[in-house]
Amino acid sequence: MTRIMSREIRMISRPNGYPTAANFELAQTELEPLKDGQVLVRNVFMSVDPYMRGRMNAGKSYIPPFELGKALEGGAVGEVLESRAKEFKPGDAVTSSYGWREYFVATPKELHWVGREFHPLSVYLGALGMTGMTAWAGLNSVEIKAGDVILVSGAAGAVGSMVGQLAKLRGCRVIGSAGSAEKVRFLQEECGFERAFDYKAAPVLEQLKLVAPDGIDVYFDNVGGDTLEAALTALNVRGRIIACGSISGYNEEKPRPGPSNLFNMVTKRLTMKGIMVFDWLHRQAIFEKEVGAYIKAGTVKHKETVVEGIDKASDAFIGLFQGQNVGKMVVKLA
Ligand code: NDP
Repeated sequence: MTRIMSREIRMISRPNGYPTAANFELAQTELEPLKDGQVLVRNVFMSVDPYMRGRMNAGKSYIPPFELGKALEGGAVGEVLESRAKEFKPGDAVTSSYGWREYFVATPKELHWVGREFHPLSVYLGALGMTGMTAWAGLNSVEIKAGDVILVSGAAGAVGSMVGQLAKLRGCRVIGSAGSAEKVRFLQEECGFERAFDYKAAPVLEQLKLVAPDGIDVYFDNVGGDTLEAALTALNVRGRIIACGSISGYNEEKPRPGPSNLFNMVTKRLTMKGIMVFDWLHRQAIFEKEVGAYIKAGTVKHKETVVEGIDKASDAFIGLFQGQNVGKMVVKLA
């Protein structure tokens, strides 16, 4: 193995509120020579995801915090450059949790082989990866019937844009909320949402009443906050909420009070189901087969926002909280 220098992003201070460039540094490290049973991988794309913000806080949450001074971790897809393990050969494409760096050495159990029939490989981080599976898992977590009116928040993002498209394939009437007029256009014109609105343009409940005068049956919650509160008011009797994320609160320094109208859960006999994508890993092959077929047929579109270069990775991450992405935000590394 030739000497490999790899650049990586480290967290050097924990964000208070919104993350800034000062929380991260770009560093360079030399990889150890490959040992028997190890594989050398060059990352082609890495993922930036809102959940990573939680790992930047001190203290244990549902996943351990990132360590200061060390390379961050996260989803990545790359290709095997050299292998001293029988399970992989040079040229294989693999996903891993060794994002935020250009190269790494790993053991086979830390890698997941992916085919090359889909291009670019970033699809395995988005529509056919963690965020696509989150959308699919969420929709499989509650009862959803053809004809249901479903509201999706964060609708133009990685999870949201897949939720809407998969719900449409189940015969639902899909409404999306997103943070700009351009995103509203994307949802209605490219993703086939029946209606969409810009949650920054006017109070959510007012807009929801206009686009869903008969109420909604299902709410797929990616953002929490005002939109969750409006959805609780707009939900019909026996409505269902898929609690997937709450990005509007991820940068709050103090926990925010819950929705003031939670009593709707009682009076309307609502169901709220929290989901975690990693609980669904045993069904990953089923997800890949089903959603892979939709992607191949062109019935589901996978939009991406691609930022180039490891030196721009922390900007891409910060950009998630400024709504800079349409579809999945990825960083191209090679
Ligand atoms: P996105 O691709 O949706 O990117 C984040 C988007 O969130 C931005 O583009 C922005 O869009 C929106 N946003 C940012 N700040 C706010 C705010 N204050 N209020 C409302 N919207 C905001 O990210 P993902 O699709 O990866 O994730 C979406 C949600 O799903 C997140 O909450 C995430 O934590 C959650 N998630 C949960 C998983 C699970 O297993 N439960 C797994 C994966 C993701 P806009 O311009 O519209 O504001």
